Amino acid sequence: MESIQDHLEKLMSQSDVGERYRSIMKNYVFTDPDVKQFISENRESLDNDAIIKSASKLYEYVNEKKKFAAKNGGLVPGYYPKLIINNNRVEIEYVPSKEEITRVQNNAINNRIQSFFMPKDIREADLGTIDKTDSRTEAILKGYDFVSEYKNDPQGFHKGLYLHGSFGVGKTYLLGAIAKELSENGIQTTLVHFPTFAVEMKNSIGDNTTAEKLDVFKKAEILMLDDIGADTMSSWIRDDVLGVILQYRMQEQLSTFFSSNFDMKQLEKEHLKVSQRGEVEPLKASRIMERIKYLSNEIEMSGRNRRLTN
Ligand code: ADP
Ligand code: MG
Repeated sequence: MESIQDHLEKLMSQSDVGERYRSIMKNYVFTDPDVKQFISENRESLDNDAIIKSASKLYEYVNEKKKFAAKNGGLVPGYYPKLIINNNRVEIEYVPSKEEITRVQNNAINNRIQSFFMPKDIREADLGTIDKTDSRTEAILKGYDFVSEYKNDPQGFHKGLYLHGSFGVGKTYLLGAIAKELSENGIQTTLVHFPTFAVEMKNSIGDNTTAEKLDVFKKAEILMLDDIGADTMSSWIRDDVLGVILQYRMQEQLSTFFSSNFDMKQLEKEHLKVSQRGEVEPLKASRIMERIKYLSNEIEMSGRNRRLTN
């Protein structure tokens, strides 16, 4: 029986195409194993005329396939070509590769994490691969619990976590990992490095954007305030920025996380109580603390300083 390749070549020699074209088809297209297989599988739907008319599609297919394999300048980057039959003609369908699907999914996930002034490596944080060997485990489990409770009842109120512990134990990293887990479940998280945010808010007074900026954090679906207490706060930041954000989130029952080197008690007594100017304001401090306590459960993280050993 005549081989597919021979048949195709014969068809080409019978058609009135130029010699150069005929030679390309013969040496480049009809020798391609995928082309041969496709034609032999679809012989019934493709008559000779259809094959001749589809030759340029077959040529495009082989070209695009090579570009895809070389990851170089394909028509639709990240998509590989596939031959199909449409109306008794050969057509090319472009199918997203596995890598492309993963890339698009990761983009969607990252888009659900809005981070402001955060270190880059928190984007790699992942609850699935997080090191669970020591006393961080409890905090990690609480993180998991939060995600599953939130997922099961997104409308209800779920207390966030107040993670405290010394420098380098992985508080920020854990917040990032929880944010990632949430984003994989379609939940939007806003993560912000609080000390830098405070400076930005102060600067926003100059260009009248305070209210607008404040709104982003007041209304975030899930808010994570990282490193609260790391810098002294002015009473304006404490009462008119932090206080306002927390008040709103309490009223609207929006989940909020904190991380700090201080536990709740220290934060209140050693940090919130004394303003940058040295004024002692215990009532204002306790008002803020009440809101933090309403919004989150305190949990200690201990263990080695990962910044020293990493
Ligand atoms: P903290 O916020 O408590 O000061 P970080 O979250 O910044 O600590 O963690 C310190 C360093 O250790 C970072 O470089 C972080 O990427 C790394 N790290 C923290 N926790 C983990 C973990 N569970 N697995 C892998 N790396 C981690
Ligand atoms: Mg940190």
